[in-house]
Amino acid sequence: MQYLPIFAQLQQRPVLLVGAGHVALRKANTLLSAGARLTVVATDFHSDFVAWQQQGKVQLLHAEFHPAQLDGHFLVVAATDDDAVNHAVFQAAEARQMLVNTVDDQPNCSFIFPAIIDRSPLLVAVSSGGAAPVLARRIREKLETLLPQHLGPLTQLVGNFRAAVKQKLDGFAARRQFWEKVFNSSVVREVQAGRLDQAQQQLEQLLTNEQPEQGEVWLVGAGPGDPELLTLKALQCMQQADVVVYDYLVSEPILQLVRRDAELICVGKKAGAHSVAQEDTNNLLVSLALSGKKVCRLKGGDPFIFGRGAEEIEVLLPHGIAFQVVPGITAAAGCAAYAGIALTHRDYAQTVQFVTGHCRKDGTEPDWSSLAKPNQTLAIYMGLMKAEHIQQQLLQAGRAAQTPVAIIENGTRPEQRVFTGQLAELAALIEQQQVQSPALLIVGEVVALQSQLAWFGKSTSQAASQALLNQL
Ligand code: SAH
Repeated sequence: MQYLPIFAQLQQRPVLLVGAGHVALRKANTLLSAGARLTVVATDFHSDFVAWQQQGKVQLLHAEFHPAQLDGHFLVVAATDDDAVNHAVFQAAEARQMLVNTVDDQPNCSFIFPAIIDRSPLLVAVSSGGAAPVLARRIREKLETLLPQHLGPLTQLVGNFRAAVKQKLDGFAARRQFWEKVFNSSVVREVQAGRLDQAQQQLEQLLTNEQPEQGEVWLVGAGPGDPELLTLKALQCMQQADVVVYDYLVSEPILQLVRRDAELICVGKKAGAHSVAQEDTNNLLVSLALSGKKVCRLKGGDPFIFGRGAEEIEVLLPHGIAFQVVPGITAAAGCAAYAGIALTHRDYAQTVQFVTGHCRKDGTEPDWSSLAKPNQTLAIYMGLMKAEHIQQQLLQAGRAAQTPVAIIENGTRPEQRVFTGQLAELAALIEQQQVQSPALLIVGEVVALQSQLAWFGKSTSQAASQALLNQL
């Protein structure tokens, strides 16, 4: 081991920083966030340092570096753009056996700054010992996405209870068992949902053994199909759930990311084939949660956009079942982006409307005259079966026959297909191309740019030559 990783307590400790430019500013930020009492030596100061001095955050010393300035300091950082000065700082510190870091100059360091993932009080530090800083940074980025933000408040909460647990439980094994139970309990999910009071209460109850395990439902949007469009939160829910209740819109690669030993229940199949009635799904969610299960209700796109998400939450309320809602990328946003359609554009559309093509059973029709106005984009969900009706109604209400339209089948997935044409030929195009569900219809002037902006599934040179062709 070339370096010993240690975490230094800098609160109120005097630290010297030599240099006051951009690089020094970065180091100063880190040192100040660790609570150091910072003195900065330089002849010329970045304006942020001057502002900090006025706020009493740092002391500035207008001077050339001199070894005597090191006296009384805990450690020193050399961050000037002058190698000779940095080297002088290093040598003076070494002579005093004082910890010194010279920025971006590993041989002139007796300590180095690791890349950190800050979930204070939880900290993860990564270092390649100066051998491959870019690799260390990449690992840090990976860990940033893996370690959820709520680890900070969770660590804080657990820290507050350590003494009480030590007093109540005898022996290391008993305490370890208790903490394992806490980290598998709903305390974690309460913190994740920002309900710190409940988390504290539940931790207290666990300590007095009064707490039966509570079920919970997470209504999670899985996005339109590309698994990389999942949110970090959606992924966490999928990996923490006991049961995942999903419908047909959730793509296979996304289901692959569910925790291996979670139970998977499908409640929706493609139109026409068998599907579970909404009421049965609602009852299923309630009974699973009441039996103490953590239920991830995984839905395509966003759960609150044509997803009946609110209905599924409403049935939980009378039972007092806790829930969270995790938004997802809705089909309109995902499919449009992957098809190369900007839903709004200063020159073409100032409004976008999300419309369902699936009318209510009572036959209520949308306001066609409002939908037929020019310079707006319509993203029509579930419109495949009703395409002919939609086309007729829009034309009748005055939308121009040559308004550009797009049909996006399997948007954001490897098998995505995009067809474009004019409003007057929408239904014919669907028929002719035998478009399958799921498909999103987009009506509006913005579709005219589609052939230039399309990128998904095309190589860059293909996209560029297409753009060139379009200009001819
Ligand atoms: N809650 C979902 C929408 C559910 S309604 C969301 O926010 O996206 C189902 C309709 O969404 C489908 O009929 C289709 O019109 C559209 N849709 C969902 N995923 C799609 C995809 N990958 N490609 C094309 N259309 C999609």
